[in-house]
Amino acid sequence: MTAMAAKKAAKKPSKKSAKRTPAKTQPKKPPRSAAAMKKDKALELDPKRIEELLRRLQAAYPDAECALHHSNAWELLVATILSAQCTDARVNMVTPALFRKFPTPKAFAEASLPAIEEEIRSTGFYHNKAKSISGAAKKLISDFGGKVPETMAELLTLPGVARKTGNVVLGVAFGKTEGVVVDTHVLRLSHRLGLTRAEDPKRVEEDLMRIIPRDRWISFSHEMIHHGRQVCIARKPKCVDCTLETLCNAPDKTWSSH
Ligand code: SF4
Repeated sequence: MTAMAAKKAAKKPSKKSAKRTPAKTQPKKPPRSAAAMKKDKALELDPKRIEELLRRLQAAYPDAECALHHSNAWELLVATILSAQCTDARVNMVTPALFRKFPTPKAFAEASLPAIEEEIRSTGFYHNKAKSISGAAKKLISDFGGKVPETMAELLTLPGVARKTGNVVLGVAFGKTEGVVVDTHVLRLSHRLGLTRAEDPKRVEEDLMRIIPRDRWISFSHEMIHHGRQVCIARKPKCVDCTLETLCNAPDKTWSSH
């Protein structure tokens, strides 16, 4: 070894010797804050717990299905667009007359916006909804031969269609699972049950897709929506009547057995 090389070797410890550095000389990790520990605790992803949660949901809502009335994929697509910021019950009041007046995508594509608006006014945000429905109908005619496409990538090209609507149409009309429907109920319950910390629905969906078995994606979202409507309601969840209570550590529980 030359004198220069010997000097360098003395200054820079090899990787091997760095690995052998005793633990007590390593910098200590800062202690976790109470808030961080609370957050860690909030995520409860033990597979056995998830399995039990799914079992109880299915037992409580064995026939859970989409509450939007429809007789084909196009009608479901329209009803789902109308259901934004509106109850399914209200949408179901509006759609019979709407589909009588415009029975096909072609009829919607040829209708004026005010004519569509007039029929859907009571669902709220009717200017935007009419634009979306009209745009989706036109795109269906021009790009998909008048038929609702059966992939998420194609559905997302339709005006007014985001992943939630895409998942509803794929799951309910075609029995295809490309994702999990994340609506306001699924979002709220997923937080309360410690299944995700994400706020953005797309991230929530990704978290749920990781922890829920794929063959339960469709039924899981229906069950969560039913549970969110009937028991785990937004303001005052009915925890005393909840089948998931012993599995739930939500901070805003109204009653707790543990
Ligand atoms: S125990 Fe309460 S907060 Fe938890 S899922 Fe049931 S209703 Fe919702």
